[in-house]
Amino acid sequence: MALGIALAAMILFVATGGTAVPRLIAAWRGIAAQPDILLTNALVLNVALIILGCNRYRSLRAELQARRISEEEARRLADIDPLTGCYNRRSIGPAMEEQLGKARDRGGAVAVILLDLDNFKQVNDLNGHSVGDRVLQVAAERMAEILPADALLARLGGDEFACAVPHAASNRDAMEHLAARLIERVARPIKIEGLSIEVTISVGIAGSDTVDAEHGGAAAPQQIMQKADIAMYQAKKAGKNRCFWFEPSMEYELRFRNQLESGIRRGIAKGEFVPYYEQQIDLDTGRLVGFEMLARWHSPDLGTVNPDIFIPIAEDIGVIAQLSEDLIVQTIEDARQWHPSLTISVNISPVQLRDPWFSQKLLKILVQHNFPPSRLEIEITESCLHDDIGLVRTMITSLRNQGMRISLDDFGTGYSSLAQLRSLPFDRLKIDRSFIREVHKSPASSKLVDAIVSMGDGLDMPITAEGIESGEILAALKRVGRLKGQGYHYGRPEPAAEVTKRLAEASLLAEDADPVPVPADRSSAAGLA
Ligand code: C2E
Ligand code: CA
Ligand code: CA
Repeated sequence: MALGIALAAMILFVATGGTAVPRLIAAWRGIAAQPDILLTNALVLNVALIILGCNRYRSLRAELQARRISEEEARRLADIDPLTGCYNRRSIGPAMEEQLGKARDRGGAVAVILLDLDNFKQVNDLNGHSVGDRVLQVAAERMAEILPADALLARLGGDEFACAVPHAASNRDAMEHLAARLIERVARPIKIEGLSIEVTISVGIAGSDTVDAEHGGAAAPQQIMQKADIAMYQAKKAGKNRCFWFEPSMEYELRFRNQLESGIRRGIAKGEFVPYYEQQIDLDTGRLVGFEMLARWHSPDLGTVNPDIFIPIAEDIGVIAQLSEDLIVQTIEDARQWHPSLTISVNISPVQLRDPWFSQKLLKILVQHNFPPSRLEIEITESCLHDDIGLVRTMITSLRNQGMRISLDDFGTGYSSLAQLRSLPFDRLKIDRSFIREVHKSPASSKLVDAIVSMGDGLDMPITAEGIESGEILAALKRVGRLKGQGYHYGRPEPAAEVTKRLAEASLLAEDADPVPVPADRSSAAGLA
């Protein structure tokens, strides 16, 4: 528009100027009369319009240019990760698409290397987010230093990075070598604000050739990255700080795991988890003294599933507390039908022990169901002792103050030190069945059990032997000292109905304890005695 006005003014200037200017010059020189005032004004106006139009045109052009530059900058900023300067999750896709096209044209492939920092949350929690940010920057710089010039590097978010590296499809070794160098370089200590921080990475690699073959045609960048992510997840699961190539079998495993996860969630809602009970015996007298509750999952798809499968998953997906509380409620309801002298042991996951409200929750359940805390034993494994030991001690003390007893389970398989054992107020040690299995055959095992039993005596902690599978083992253990024991020799873990039958035969039901019906509060007091 500004240019149009200037052009129109110029044309007008040519038209009017052609007659007016010679007349004006002649008038100034005195050889002609003054031209018409209207014509002169039109001429002046015309010149002003030309200047105005040109100026406006020039400033508009400058404005447009500035806008184009800032738009380009905004687009560039949207494409890069502001912290590390790498590509981001959005922009790596199109960049890889182009890179893949070129590689496929040449008959080559692109390897997507997915890298995830291990335990990065701890770095952030312990040192603050500014240190965490710096660690991410240094990690990205180190990766960029090692990658070949034609590779792409992106930060996908959080502590997750992806590289896309063109390579010859047949040459996997080169990519493995590259991944090993990335792992080694990132793991070197990072010096920040007087601190020396070390992080490791877990790496998953997927080759576009493998994914193309599985996909039956050219796979999209997103699909290749997803496979590298599956491989990375396997690397994490196998202990972190390592590298795995994607294999199609990993996908089936992941799908199965997802099925298990949703099955567990559904199963909790539908009450598919039930307590089974394993007898606990006083080895000296052969008397039944209580039961250990062992969870079972009656899955409609998988049949009866053992806790080794579902407990770790329930912990991972954050449903262990709900699952465990449901089971404890069922257990207490079952145990209320039993003789009050019988105790009941429940296994508690380390995850639950980290909940500061755990002992309150447990006490609430006991009060609601009118069950004496003294009949309840809590079993925790040695792995709990790797966590915040102060927190564990507070928790154990709080549970004991409420009248429950605490056993250290699977003793001998972990790393609890004598100092820890002395400082933590456990009521009982349970020797792991791996020591018991050989006790009648191997002198070494037998000596170890002897040593644990005398240590228990010294610490004033009674001992339970797990995994008594035969009469020979039982005989060997009886020689060692006064123990409680449990194992398949006494029978497999059973559901509540079987236990009730067994107890009825042995006159060990609640009604056998006190034939006169007593008010609820007095029956609990009997249990406490
Ligand atoms: P655990 O606490 O060490 O339980 C003993 C395990 O050994 C049980 O396996 C039991 O069935 C098995 N067992 C008992 N006697 C013998 C024997 O003579 N020989 C052999 N070979 N095995 C025997 P299960 O029921 O599969 O439980 C496995 C683990 O799952 C338990 O080990 C416990 O750590 C955990 N667990 C079970 N229920 C729960 C639960 O409700 N919550 C939590 N957090 N963990 C649970
Ligand atoms: Ca146990
Ligand atoms: Ca055990």
